[in-house]
Amino acid sequence: MTTHNFNAGPAVLPRAVLERAQAELLDYHGRGMSILEMSHRSKEYEAVNQSAEARFKALLGLGDDYRVLFMQGGASAQFALLALNFLRPATTANYVLTGSWGEKALEEAKRIGATHVAATAAEGNYRTVPAPGDLQLSERPAYLHITSNETIQGVQWPTFPDSGAVPLVADMSSDILSRPFDASRFALIYAGAQKNIGPSGVTAVIVRESFVAEARKDMPAIFSYQTILKNNSLYNTPPVYAVYLVDLVIAWIEGLGGLTAMAERNAAKAAAIYDTIDGSNGFYRGHAEVASRSPMNVTFRLPSPELEKQFVAEAQAQGMVGLAGHRSVGGIRASIYNALEPASCTVLAQFMRDFAQHNG
Ligand SMILES: *Cc1c(COP(=O)(O)O)cnc(C)c1O
Repeated sequence: MTTHNFNAGPAVLPRAVLERAQAELLDYHGRGMSILEMSHRSKEYEAVNQSAEARFKALLGLGDDYRVLFMQGGASAQFALLALNFLRPATTANYVLTGSWGEKALEEAKRIGATHVAATAAEGNYRTVPAPGDLQLSERPAYLHITSNETIQGVQWPTFPDSGAVPLVADMSSDILSRPFDASRFALIYAGAQKNIGPSGVTAVIVRESFVAEARKDMPAIFSYQTILKNNSLYNTPPVYAVYLVDLVIAWIEGLGGLTAMAERNAAKAAAIYDTIDGSNGFYRGHAEVASRSPMNVTFRLPSPELEKQFVAEAQAQGMVGLAGHRSVGGIRASIYNALEPASCTVLAQFMRDFAQHNG
């Protein structure tokens, strides 16, 4: 039976990438050893590190004023590092809340300095993103932080707010490299790799160099973006295998035609499931408002928690795994990241129609 992997993260990886990694595992480029066993100072790993950054920047259309850093500690470490590096006593960190991850980012900043909620969709139970006009920034904002795609609620910004001269920062963990966008509008973007671009263990941090130059200097070296940047992500031992896989995943995205092709593929995948929700006469109820629906995490409910349990179990028996909603919100969540094949969404949509017919 084919497995259809709807896990939220760690998540499905492109089959071709896993096969390439498998083929190269024991003998990397004729060196008689695995890349797992090589020094991170070797010319082989330096090439991987450089390639991953160069490919990343090329896909995002970024120039010399940007760098891509590879760091550890997940997006959760970035919640804290962002505030530690850029929040000063006289400034205020601004956050827009569109779901659970934005709340967590804010909680970390609160431990470090002054914060302000520029807009929140919490009252509506996080079904939408605020209208651009609804953002109210504080005095002396250090930065404005958004979560481009809220993985738990299934809410995505269709277009990004204009922060003017205020540095715009985004957690893009669950939709990075899933669609084209103007990355040059952001001062800093971070993304744990394990949703869309690789395995867990590495976090990509895309930074405008002039923004990093303004960061606090009174930081432990390992927590300083300046240190990581100055050392090309090789200040200490990086997660070499994770970066190697990220490089392969980005090459795979290039091979499919880049971000525009990826966005088209993702939109078609998402439409297969959202159309099924919308055509179910209310049996399935989508969580997000239509204009804010995520093409990465499709969240919906069934008429009862019992039916949701039955749905997850029956889907699992047919090879569709990972469909239970996040433990904090319940319901169903189909995570359909870049690497998930369109056929898996077709199979899920058919299963949903059959399930509704038998249980509606
Ligand atoms: C998964 C996720 C996180 C947390 O990532 P970790 O790597 O576990 O720290 C943060 N933000 C978003 C948007 C996520 O999807």
